[in-house]
Amino acid sequence: GKTSLTLLGLGAMGTALARAWLAAGHPLTVWNRTPARAAALAAEGARVADDAAAAVAANPLVVVCLLDDASVDEVLAGADLAGRDLVNLTSGTPAQARARAEWARERGARYLDGGIMAVPPMIGVPEAGGHVLYSGSRELFERHRETLAVPAGTTYVGEDAGFAALYDVALLSAMYGMFAGAAHAFALIRTEDIDPTAFAPLLADWLVAMAPAVHQTAGQLRSGDYTEGVASDLAMQVAGVPTFLDTAEQQGVSTELLRPYFELMRRRLAEGSGAEGLTGVVDLLVR
Ligand code: NDP
Repeated sequence: GKTSLTLLGLGAMGTALARAWLAAGHPLTVWNRTPARAAALAAEGARVADDAAAAVAANPLVVVCLLDDASVDEVLAGADLAGRDLVNLTSGTPAQARARAEWARERGARYLDGGIMAVPPMIGVPEAGGHVLYSGSRELFERHRETLAVPAGTTYVGEDAGFAALYDVALLSAMYGMFAGAAHAFALIRTEDIDPTAFAPLLADWLVAMAPAVHQTAGQLRSGDYTEGVASDLAMQVAGVPTFLDTAEQQGVSTELLRPYFELMRRRLAEGSGAEGLTGVVDLLVR
């Protein structure tokens, strides 16, 4: 039969995870601080534990999806974790994940940390392409791989429990940079009578066309040769900077999102790296 498991935390994400496991026929024990959310799932076949400790005792595999690291502390404080396989899908920093792994080890549990690269509507919908980054106990991951793959794809990134959080934050940081660029682009077209819905397809296609540039960056970071295959060198790109700043000024758009990146490009150029592309900016950021 299907592996039975426990899930603590029935917020938007926890509820979506619960529904995916129930729909796939996994016996599921749930607990949530606010009982009403568990009652709704009971009607769909979940067993509802009286408290968090009882939920943990119900199954060797225990998944938690709570608001933050402090809530994990509160919820698991009274539970006996000895012999449990603890999977923590609560977002946090790499340092929190590493501390939690050590905390779990001291209590006799195996530990896997997860970073969910999906929003709740993508959970249990394989076509949506959502996945969860996992790091920590490889044994735990291998043993429960099939069960973990029910709500979303699985990507194991290493034994260091902090890596899932690090990858998660890195990916989301890149996303925010992209959103920042898109905000500036929309601000520019908002200053004229341009239909944003007509502009959006051009923007989306351009971002997609540019995305593979990260492979060149990665190759250069690995080889150490930042001039490898460069089509648009830094000298040329920095020469173009006034066009971006002047256009923004002339259209009455703030340059506050663009300036920090341009400053880094200029600093790298000033160090004599005009034949490189943009990869050198990475080195300026690492302290
Ligand atoms: P919600 O705010 O919807 O739910 C939070 C959950 O944590 C609820 O079950 C809540 O219980 C519980 N909780 C909060 N504080 C405490 C506490 N002190 N003691 C006990 N339980 C507590 O958040 P989500 O479900 O959306 O998110 C859960 C995790 O998943 C977060 O770490 C989030 O970053 C991550 N995540 C969420 C995504 C999303 O799009 N939603 C995407 C990727 C990751 P109660 O019902 O009693 O309030």
